[in-house]
Amino acid sequence: MTKASDFLIALDDGHGIGTPGKCTPFIESLGRQIRENEFNAAVTDFLQDELERCGFRTLLTAPTDYDTPLSARTDLANAKGADALVSNHFNALKDYFNGPGKDPEGMSIHIYPGAKNGRKLAEHVAKYLKQGTEQKYRGIVEQNLHMTREFNKASILVENGFMDNEREALLMVNKAFQRECAREQAQGICEYFGVPYVPPGGKAPVKVVKPPKSDVKSETSAKSPSGQRVESIYKGSEGLNFYSRASFNTKYKAGTLTYGYGFPTTVRKLKVEGAEMFEVKNSKGDTYYITASPKYVKLEGKGEVKKPAPAKTSSKAKGRIKIVGVKKAAIIQDRANRKTSKNLGTVSKGSVLEVTGSVRGENSASGYWEVVFKGKRGFVTGEFGEYKAY
Ligand SMILES: [Zn+2]
Repeated sequence: MTKASDFLIALDDGHGIGTPGKCTPFIESLGRQIRENEFNAAVTDFLQDELERCGFRTLLTAPTDYDTPLSARTDLANAKGADALVSNHFNALKDYFNGPGKDPEGMSIHIYPGAKNGRKLAEHVAKYLKQGTEQKYRGIVEQNLHMTREFNKASILVENGFMDNEREALLMVNKAFQRECAREQAQGICEYFGVPYVPPGGKAPVKVVKPPKSDVKSETSAKSPSGQRVESIYKGSEGLNFYSRASFNTKYKAGTLTYGYGFPTTVRKLKVEGAEMFEVKNSKGDTYYITASPKYVKLEGKGEVKKPAPAKTSSKAKGRIKIVGVKKAAIIQDRANRKTSKNLGTVSKGSVLEVTGSVRGENSASGYWEVVFKGKRGFVTGEFGEYKAY
């Protein structure tokens, strides 16, 4: 059966952030111009998330902010054996606005003249791009462009709108629009390769590698308020309600706390009706619920709060990984989230690290290895480690 992980998708965010001339006219309501790459890079980032969630492997053709030469982009995609290439752009015919109804508008998908696979991919992507935000569909355009000509498999270049149309220009910095374009492109790419699209929150049908079962607590549990005293800081004379159930419904109101009074034990924090509540116990051990809003309550004392793992790891290594699947080196992150982590350093391809566990983490379809790096805890993207148990 075809699986998404069989395919490598090259993602190209057209131009560099500083590439001259590639920007909108001055937009009064924004007080500035928008650079084309602001959109191209954002949609490419979302597209990478979408595709990785679906199980694809991805390759960024221009991972830096510099204006990477076009030949370097297609050379890399070809050298890595990418199976498709998607380049995202925003079109422009002029450098001023003529006003509503007078400017060019709409999106188009560009392929190399006569490219059969390119056309097929474009057709699948077009089917989805036409949905959502209403935009004129300008069709599949055969055009001799470097990105579609020099890449040797299916390649499309999407012009997602016009920078010299103020309505569309404003869409460039609209996060919902960026996400929508990425999702629609991902849906078309999945269809082209005959693999299921996995919506956000869905489960990827195929994992790239299977790290051993997670044995590391998530970072949120480290912030659990377990054991702390919770106290009302609400000064209103009517006091602060607490409840017999995890609800803000007055039906379950069990009493009120005046300023400075509280419960000795906090059990946990819960999401309730779109807000947060603490589950608490009084000195007799009876359970109640109270708002967790820092506007109304504060936590006191250390309780049994689990401290974040110390920087110096004491966990015992259970195996080791060899760094694979990278060009030169893999990045060691300080946490299991590609997007929010700091880099602790790099380890070159082929080197070996001790593994203390594995976590699902965030923003990696293959999870992360928890490793020992220079005596400290670090994380490596799952697919970059070949595991061997001790
Ligand atoms: Zn462009």
